[in-house]
Amino acid sequence: MESTTTSDIEIMLSSQSKINEVDFENLTFGTVFTDHMLVCDFKNGEWQKPVIQPYQPFTLDPSTKVFHYGQAIFEGMKAYKDEQGDVWMFRANENFNRFNKSAIRLAMPEVPEEVFMGGLRKLLHIEKDWVRYGMGRSLYIRPYMIATGEGVIAQPSSEYKFVIILSPAKSYYNQEVKVVIANHYSRAANGGIGAAKAAGNYAGQFYPTKLAVEKGFQQIIWTDDATHTKLEEAGTMNVFFRINNTLITAPTSERILDGVTRKSLIDLAKREGIDVEVRSLLVDELLNAAKNGTLKEIFGAGTAAVINPIVGFAYEDLYFDLPKIENSMAMELKDKLNKIQYKLAEDTFGWTEKIE
Ligand SMILES: *Cc1c(COP(=O)(O)O)cnc(C)c1O
Repeated sequence: MESTTTSDIEIMLSSQSKINEVDFENLTFGTVFTDHMLVCDFKNGEWQKPVIQPYQPFTLDPSTKVFHYGQAIFEGMKAYKDEQGDVWMFRANENFNRFNKSAIRLAMPEVPEEVFMGGLRKLLHIEKDWVRYGMGRSLYIRPYMIATGEGVIAQPSSEYKFVIILSPAKSYYNQEVKVVIANHYSRAANGGIGAAKAAGNYAGQFYPTKLAVEKGFQQIIWTDDATHTKLEEAGTMNVFFRINNTLITAPTSERILDGVTRKSLIDLAKREGIDVEVRSLLVDELLNAAKNGTLKEIFGAGTAAVINPIVGFAYEDLYFDLPKIENSMAMELKDKLNKIQYKLAEDTFGWTEKIE
């Protein structure tokens, strides 16, 4: 193992890469990780020196706070390779800012920019070969932070671990997603942690989603917890509805995650001259639009799939199939966004950053 220090990051390179053992044609999302990870500990009231080291397990005391009280947050974004072989991040600064908002909400320390962004740039530079060129190929970036203080007393930890791991990804043809519209369970409530990318938000969705899966659906579209009349978002995606030629998506709130894909699509759609309404669509409006034929598309938007078209939805005892349409706005916007991400179209918004 070779050890060096560049600026303020200690780097320990692994002696052997496992890249040749990886089948890049058959990747199951989030199961293969690159050779290195970034780790930075917070203790005695300050962040310690970040370390890039070989990917390896942690040893934690059984009383470690994250196991008991769920003080844990994460992020998710991607890096892409262009035709020339350069690696690009897409709006990673947005993820950095959102991570620190989540940290504040979970009473965790904010991560300094030089640790999060500086560490990420360095890690991506080292792992460049793991980013493959080609539409649908990317390197998924998973930064996260957990409470590592010991003792089962229910209070914020005084020690934390910030980590970045990387996973090569390949998206396949979109599976046909059918959703259930929530009329009882909720993922978030006013005053809660729905707007944070907090681990517990996802644990809370697993049971209602399991019930939906048992009925032949893949996801739930969540509604507002108080009245279950306003359509909000899906599992790990924001949602867009196309009624006639207007795209409608819910405003962000304390209950909704402010997705980078969502806001990028809103900007792109507006640039294309598409009518976009940022407002709460009511379940009744959706049912009427489905009945009178004005509902054209529903799609989820998030880093993992960029856009996931929804082919049908259930609400209470009703079920509707979405029409099969040509000139889908979902596919047009996905293509426009992908072209910016893979540097196949000019990035007029300044969303991409090259890894040197
Ligand atoms: C991550 C996430 C999204 C999508 O955010 P992106 O920044 O577009 O990836 C939407 N909703 C929830 C609940 C999420 O966790």
